[in-house]
Amino acid sequence: MSDAGLPTDTPEPVFLPWQAATAAAWLGGGRERFAHAWLLHGQAGIGKRQFAWAAAASLLCEQPRHGLACGECPACRWLRQGNHPDFRVVRPDAVALAEGGQEAGEPETDASRAKKTPSREIRIEQVRELERWITTATHRGGWRVVLLYPLHSLNPYAANALLKMLEEPPAHTVFLMVTDAPDRVLPTLLSRSRRLPLAAPEPDEAQAWLESMGVAEPGGFLAAAGQAPVAALAMARQHDKAWPEWLPLWLEGLGRGQGRALAARLAGDLEKQPATEWLAVLQRAVCDLQWQQNGLEPRYYPGLAQASGALASRCGKVPLAEFSRHLAQQIRIANHPLNARLFAQATLLRMAETAA
Ligand SMILES: [Zn+2]
Repeated sequence: MSDAGLPTDTPEPVFLPWQAATAAAWLGGGRERFAHAWLLHGQAGIGKRQFAWAAAASLLCEQPRHGLACGECPACRWLRQGNHPDFRVVRPDAVALAEGGQEAGEPETDASRAKKTPSREIRIEQVRELERWITTATHRGGWRVVLLYPLHSLNPYAANALLKMLEEPPAHTVFLMVTDAPDRVLPTLLSRSRRLPLAAPEPDEAQAWLESMGVAEPGGFLAAAGQAPVAALAMARQHDKAWPEWLPLWLEGLGRGQGRALAARLAGDLEKQPATEWLAVLQRAVCDLQWQQNGLEPRYYPGLAQASGALASRCGKVPLAEFSRHLAQQIRIANHPLNARLFAQATLLRMAETAA
C-alpha cells in the first residue's frame, strides 16, 4: 500500500469548481452522522478521484471551515505532502506507477524488480495491510480515511476481505471508494456502501475550467473526451490534437474503399501503442459514424465530420453495429493480446469489411 500523495492534475486536494455544491451539501451534515463507506461513482474522467482526495482533506482537517478543509493546519499540510498518518491510498500497482507514485506492497527487492508487469488488480495483500493499519489507534485522534480506487479492480479475494471490514466497520474510519463501473463491483460490497453519484459539469463550465488550466482550444478535446473535463485535460497535455494523426487517414482511406491495403500498414503503427488507447479511439469514431448514419452530428470528433460523414454513408448500418459490438469485446481482452500486430490488423480488417 502506498501512502504517497495523489499526483493529480490539480496539485491541491481541493474540490473542482463543478463539485463544490455537491461537496458542501454532502459534508455539511456534520462528521458525526457521516456514513463509513461511500461509493463515489460517475462517468470516467470527470474528477471523481480529485473529489475523493478533497473529501479526505475535509474529513482529516483539524480546523475545517463549513465542513471543508482549511488548507493550512498540520493535517492539511501532511495530506498535501502525502504523509498524513491517518490516510491511506489503495490502488493497483499499475495505477500507482501510472500516477507516478510508488508501487504498493513490500519494499523493492531484486526479485520484485525482476518480476512481471505491475498488477492491474487490488490484491488481497493490500487489503490485509489495511486491516493491520486499521486495528491501530488513529495518530491524530480524529478520523481515519481510506481512499480506494478503482473499486472494480479489486480481485475476488480482496473484495471479500474488504467486505468483511465493511461489515464490522472500524470506529472513526471512512472508506471513500471510487469507480466508473459500479456494475463490475460485487453486489454485496455495493449494498454495504452509501452511493454518491458525481456528474460532469455543463459544457460551458468545463470549457472555462480547461481554459483556466491553460488549454487554448478546449472544445475539441472536451468532445473527444465525451465531455469529461479531467480526461480532456490529460489528453490536451499529451497531444496537440484531439485525435491521433492516423485517424483521419484511416477514415478517409476507408471512405475510398482502401481499407484492406491500409490496414496492414496502420497495424504496424498501432502495435507500438497500448491497444486500449487505439481501441478507444476506434470506438469513439464508430459511435460518430453511427450517429451520422442516423442524421445526427458526430459527438466525439466533430472536426472530422467530413471524412466520417463520407464513410458513414458507405458503411451498412448492420455491419457497423456488429463491428461496434466486436470492438467492445476486443476492449475487454485488450490488455493481453498475444500478438499486438495481428490483433491490430484483425481489428482494422474487420472495420474495413463494414465499408467494403
Ligand atoms: Zn486543515
